[in-house]
Amino acid sequence: MTISELRKKFVEGSYTPVDALTDIQKVIDERDGTINAFVDVFDDAMASAEEATARYKTEGENAPALLGMPIAIKTNILIEGKRATASSKMLEHYVATYDATVITKLKEAGALFVGATNMDEFAMGSSTESSAFGITRNPVDESRVPGGSSGGSAAAVAMGAAVAALGTDTGGSVRQPASFCGVVGYKPTYGSVSRSGLIAMGSSLDQAGPLTNTVADAEIIHNIISGKDPLDATTINADTYPLVPLKDTYRIGVPRDFLGTGIDADVSAVFESTLTKLKEAGHEIVDVTLPLMEKGLAAYYIVMPAEVSSNLGRFDGVRYGLHVDGADLLDDYMLTRAQGFGEEVKRRILLGTYVLSAGYYDSYYGKAEQVREMMRDELDAVFKDVDILLTPTSPVPAFKIGEKSDPLSMYLADIFTVPANLTGVPALSIPAGTVDRDGVLLPVGVQCIGPHAGDARLFDFGKKMNGEL
Ligand code: GLN
Repeated sequence: MTISELRKKFVEGSYTPVDALTDIQKVIDERDGTINAFVDVFDDAMASAEEATARYKTEGENAPALLGMPIAIKTNILIEGKRATASSKMLEHYVATYDATVITKLKEAGALFVGATNMDEFAMGSSTESSAFGITRNPVDESRVPGGSSGGSAAAVAMGAAVAALGTDTGGSVRQPASFCGVVGYKPTYGSVSRSGLIAMGSSLDQAGPLTNTVADAEIIHNIISGKDPLDATTINADTYPLVPLKDTYRIGVPRDFLGTGIDADVSAVFESTLTKLKEAGHEIVDVTLPLMEKGLAAYYIVMPAEVSSNLGRFDGVRYGLHVDGADLLDDYMLTRAQGFGEEVKRRILLGTYVLSAGYYDSYYGKAEQVREMMRDELDAVFKDVDILLTPTSPVPAFKIGEKSDPLSMYLADIFTVPANLTGVPALSIPAGTVDRDGVLLPVGVQCIGPHAGDARLFDFGKKMNGEL
């Protein structure tokens, strides 16, 4: 069900938050032993569902917009009194002492939190295989990954264990798992959603975004969690960027040069058939050239580890989480970080420290930041000509568990998603079709990219494209 369908039933009383949570608990009992979408299922959820059910009886239509809506939250987003683990041994026993701003806003809207979802450790990965709490499986095909890093959130929505979920997206971590699991995923304009209370990965790239069954639901959640926040100086105002108008039909740019190689043929076919449908619906499709976009991956895998190495410096065994006693203070640090962090996290801290070190800063980090600036200019220029850009979300459908054990081959899967994070523009992944792998039909998503602050336009276009308008 969608948020608006649930809402209608909750108001009528024909299906209550208690009914919804009871059904969800059944799904979790039946499937989550295998899927492992959740790191924690919250034991106070039923009490909240009972309270919400009672409130609908007295408040009816006046009840807050998300009252009793079962929502799952990625385990790197702080909820006061709950564990926020980032799926790392480092934070296995860390209990949040305050609410992230996105959580405060969801609470004000009445949301019911089902549980905390599994992810790649500290959001580093595209498969949810690097979690310290076991892998998550794709509900569509349990031999495959759900994507990542918000794989638990995508799996939770796809298997019906939540009506919506929050994820975080640093380089595609909401959009790619959405594509792999057949749900909608949204990465907002950088700064439109507060990062206060998110466990940071790459601060200039991170945004929290919704995973939902429909574009309309993503819009509902986004509109609730977004807004200027005094706790995050990078949040934008309504007038930070020029107004992005909505239109009846849109002029859509396809960056053909960027879509050149490495895409599975049947994923390409789904993308092309989406273009045909859009043309039939009256939208205009034009080819555009974006020569810098293919440099995005190289720039991302410099900028992101640099920020990771800095952000993860705080996990020193003193301030948060795990502490391992050594012979002296330095030994404490070394033992704690050696035992607390997994392999991928260590790899990125090492890479990041290297590219920031004196002597290498200019040739790596400085250059990557220059490329990033040029990519931003290139996108700003193309959005003077077209309203929206369209690409596949991922060059491949969900891959097999263990298939991408070489980190470089995993990184390549992010080719289409990282440009939006590097440049700060919003991007939306919508299920567009399926491809057959070993007799199973796997979902494939198409990514719509908009100009800065073009969030409302993306939702409008996305609803049209997804047949919701
Ligand atoms: N897959 C990308 C990475 O490994 C993106 C991760 C993310 O968006 N958090 O860095």
